Amino acid sequence: MSTDATTTDATSDPTTDPTTDPTTAPGVLARCTELDRFTSSPDHLERVHLSPEHAAANEAVRAWMEQAGLTTWRDAAGNMCGRREGREPGLPALLLGSHVDTVPDAGSYDGMLGVVMAIAVAQRLGDRVAELPFALELVAFSDEEGTRFGTALMGSKALAGLWDDAWWQLADADGVPLRQAFLDFGLDPERARDAARAPGSLVGYLEAHIEQGPYLEAADVSLGYVTTIAGARRFRLTVLGEARHAGGTPYERRRDALVGAGEAITTIERLGRALGVIATVGQIEVHPGAVNVIAGRADFSLDLRAPLDEDRDRAWERLHAEVAAACEARGLRLEVTETHAAPAAPCAGWLQQAVVDGIRSTGDADPMALWSRAGHDAMAVAAVADIGMLFLRCHDGISHHPGEDVREVDVARGIDAFEAAVLAVATAHDAGGTAAVPPPTPGLGR
Ligand SMILES: [Zn+2]
Repeated sequence: MSTDATTTDATSDPTTDPTTDPTTAPGVLARCTELDRFTSSPDHLERVHLSPEHAAANEAVRAWMEQAGLTTWRDAAGNMCGRREGREPGLPALLLGSHVDTVPDAGSYDGMLGVVMAIAVAQRLGDRVAELPFALELVAFSDEEGTRFGTALMGSKALAGLWDDAWWQLADADGVPLRQAFLDFGLDPERARDAARAPGSLVGYLEAHIEQGPYLEAADVSLGYVTTIAGARRFRLTVLGEARHAGGTPYERRRDALVGAGEAITTIERLGRALGVIATVGQIEVHPGAVNVIAGRADFSLDLRAPLDEDRDRAWERLHAEVAAACEARGLRLEVTETHAAPAAPCAGWLQQAVVDGIRSTGDADPMALWSRAGHDAMAVAAVADIGMLFLRCHDGISHHPGEDVREVDVARGIDAFEAAVLAVATAHDAGGTAAVPPPTPGLGR
């Protein structure tokens, strides 16, 4: 599982300045800003999987992990990892992490905040790690967003043993195949599967992340715990009509694919609201796409999410039926292709409880439960370990945008809660009761 292991000292870390102690909120925020330097463009932040700037970010993270007392290695899929032994060498590990890749024109916190907070927690725990009933491991995942190769969670899926050899067919927008990107990054494509962690080698996985939504801010609280991560289904819908002269074709003889698609899109929004699912049409293409030609064909995307897979799937059946009926009434044909499907990933009850205990230690007696609308590395890791997530309030729910922002006070409480959650996991682990612990509250939260 480990390549190029090293324990060399980090000496040139600008954030060791006492005014930005890396175990405090100002220090954590300074490190997030520091990572902004590793970008493909001076004008905006963009750091994609296996790029030179990704390598540079990995090395910064490696230095910080080593400063926190961890032994580091880059795994076979490009994830940067660190470990410190617990009560005895070789115990299964509690894994803390998030990702360091970004979308184009990204903010500074999506992913990076969770990585830097995990390092802060490891550094704060220091020699106390040697008393824990598990090893402490950290990971900075290489690919969560899927910006470069179009497939998200490649880093965390590799760690979870979900590597897919079909990915070798992928190439980036410049035509660089994934295999070449591996070689350029100094990775051996033949060994990609070695990044997989053995079942039983992990006690659990905890991830801190900005909420990427408005609910914590609306409730005026700093932190929340995640009940489940919604799985998305994505479809490509094609409405087929007949392209004809815009002037010469009377209404009763038209089979206008774009009008059919328009009706489908408003139907999707209406039913999405009514059924409590999130349905988004984000792309549409019209053919032949001329001002004086009735559209003969319209292709559009649909992204569908709900906290429970059953609700999402039931909603899809209803949406599909109504859209198909609307198309038929207009003499149009509807074709549907499913392009992506991911199951929801529920957070384990005992890890939800550990995160709740962590948040309570910061003075919030009744922590807010949330279900995650966005995907996270944790949903991949769920294939190999129990997962739990801590959400931090972010400004105006903005994410995947340079306007992403967090408050220092929330980061301070977040680090405290994250550290306390690790200790709560240790207590739960020592008590022997883990999987059987029910979630802290019924329901899925906001
Ligand atoms: Zn993220």
